[in-house]
Amino acid sequence: MKPIQSTLKQWTKSAGLQERLENQKKELFKDPFIQEFLRMEKYSLTTEMVDRGMVKLYEFKKERTHCANCPGLKACPNMMKGYQPTLQIERGHLELRYLPCALKVQEKQHKEQQQLMKSLYIPKDILKARFEDIDMDGEREEAGAAALEFALKAEPGENGEGLYFYGKFGVGKTYLMGAIANELYERGVESYTVYTPDFFREMKQSIGDGTFQGKLDRIKRAKVLILDDIGAETTSSWVRDDVLGVILQYRMLEKLPTLFTSNYDYDELEEHLSYSDRGGIEELKAKRIMERIKHQTTFVTVKGHNRRESK
Ligand code: ADP
Ligand code: MG
Repeated sequence: MKPIQSTLKQWTKSAGLQERLENQKKELFKDPFIQEFLRMEKYSLTTEMVDRGMVKLYEFKKERTHCANCPGLKACPNMMKGYQPTLQIERGHLELRYLPCALKVQEKQHKEQQQLMKSLYIPKDILKARFEDIDMDGEREEAGAAALEFALKAEPGENGEGLYFYGKFGVGKTYLMGAIANELYERGVESYTVYTPDFFREMKQSIGDGTFQGKLDRIKRAKVLILDDIGAETTSSWVRDDVLGVILQYRMLEKLPTLFTSNYDYDELEEHLSYSDRGGIEELKAKRIMERIKHQTTFVTVKGHNRRESK
């Protein structure tokens, strides 16, 4: 019986396998990525390392060629989506290391930035609001200036002073808040904007599904919290004391600014908050909440015409 080695040799020869392998190898070494690697590592590489690392070299070439013809992150054909192999010599062996490609890095940064600007129930056009796009007619100058100053100077944790934007329906209060949130985001300051009536409704519902505490914690810890349209919610003692009261108490102690918009001024909001769903009037509790709001905000009247009508 012939030894297995010689049978194998004969077989590979006859099938032309040897030749094909040699040709593939030649092709491989023509690849610009491989050439670049060989050139850079010419002093540390040995023929043995290259022979033993052929599989890695093929893999490297294949994936780098994918990258050279990148079809975009979603359609990335690489083994690990969005990752690019680099060749390295480690303990005398060729090794592949996978690093996120430029698109993947960009995506990650984008996601992180989005995390900075969170919102609940806020219309899309408001989320795009920018100070550059605001027409500062005389009427709105005061509110615009206050908004811009806050956006540029806010230091959550150091200074808990916020704003209270009072004005009629449609004058652009929420829009100004959107511009603030965007400017804060440019500065890397996290903000959370919520449409208050929907937020309170969600908090009520979350009692039943066990998510209440988590949601409350997230909102109360936001670096900058924007409570849009406070006073438009249906009142309840529970929301006032166990949601709003708790949030404001925490933020006051931690010096975290809160911004409000409302169709009510301070006195009107106090009256609104004093109505109890249990019947009767709870003036003292409403007063206590209002004291906190007043203490932590500067009152600004937003003047102007109703922009929703002129549209
Ligand atoms: P409010 O919150 O005071 O009721 P909004 O901020 O919702 O008013 O503004 C009403 C409408 O006018 C929205 O559709 C908003 O996008 C638009 N708007 C408000 N201010 C501006 C502005 N400065 N430039 C362009 N559109 C604005
Ligand atoms: Mg509004």
